Amino acid sequence: MKHDKALRTAAELVEAGLLPAGRLAAAEAVARKYAIAVTSTVAGLIDRDDPDDPIARQFVPDLAELSVTPEERADPIGDQTHSPLEGIVHRYPDRVLLKAVHVCPVYCRFCFRREMVGPEGLGTLSPEAMDRAIGYIADHPEIWEVILTGGDPLVLSARRLEDMMRRLAAIAHVKVVRFHTRVPVVEPERVDGSLIAALKASGKTTYVALHANHPRELTEAARAAAGRLVDAGIVMLSQSVLLRGVNDDVEVLAALFRGFVEARVKPYYLHHPDLAPGTAHFRVSIAEGQALVKALRGRVSGLCQPTYVLDIPGGYGKAPLAAANVRDEDGACMVTDWRGREHVYPPVGE
Ligand code: SF4
Repeated sequence: MKHDKALRTAAELVEAGLLPAGRLAAAEAVARKYAIAVTSTVAGLIDRDDPDDPIARQFVPDLAELSVTPEERADPIGDQTHSPLEGIVHRYPDRVLLKAVHVCPVYCRFCFRREMVGPEGLGTLSPEAMDRAIGYIADHPEIWEVILTGGDPLVLSARRLEDMMRRLAAIAHVKVVRFHTRVPVVEPERVDGSLIAALKASGKTTYVALHANHPRELTEAARAAAGRLVDAGIVMLSQSVLLRGVNDDVEVLAALFRGFVEARVKPYYLHHPDLAPGTAHFRVSIAEGQALVKALRGRVSGLCQPTYVLDIPGGYGKAPLAAANVRDEDGACMVTDWRGREHVYPPVGE
């Protein structure tokens, strides 16, 4: 299979015209902490004449990433709290995350797992760790759904994906396998016949959740890649992160969710940005997010409405941010989790 040659250093970004030379030293300092990867597809989407380009903002490193605020945390959604063994996160009874790989085709500057992903991150599960993870799933009959995330599972070879699906298919109580990926958008040529075949297993239902945040990411090639997956009988969902300077605008969100629906990808989640280190410049307040989602309600079809959710910091799971789940207390938000417990969410800093 042909692989995209991604730009992986600050110097390569300068050479490609994606980063002003004056920001090289700052970007190199960021790169010592967090990985860089910009595929040629993504590089081609960036408007080099726009200093505020919403695609560049997602992938080109910024000095602001080195400013960590007190409320930020290395494991913002509490994966480690719910990890009974390497590669598994078991937060809710009926489903697990299987983190097979911690590598991605691109590295998002706002990534909620930025301390774990990248070439220097946790890597790919060893065959022994994968055996133990599959064994855990087999030993827990309450597990109905396995969610492949990471990292981006679609960077694995078709052979490895097929092997993993074959092993999951042998577990009778697992009915649904879901892949979370950015590949159809950032490296659409990777979605070929062998990869699609590898995602399917007899007797199991495969879902693919596609991560994109701006309508310009939904190119013809990305829509065609999604179309190939849907034509093969795979159900597609979207997930997006609400990001300041990228999509904190009702027209942009409307175009994004309409684009997904047109591509046969059902809008699923709009995530409130997580408290990942060095991402304060991306965060909007919950009140801003609620106002945007409310404005979207009147503007676009119900088909185009995702659920606006917060992963409650600390690993308490997702809470829909509809007004009924959130109340104000001294400037902070009190958010109710799925068990009815309340948690404090800090105000956005000045
Ligand atoms: S693709 Fe997902 S896991 Fe990878 S850097 Fe982006 S947000 Fe993080």
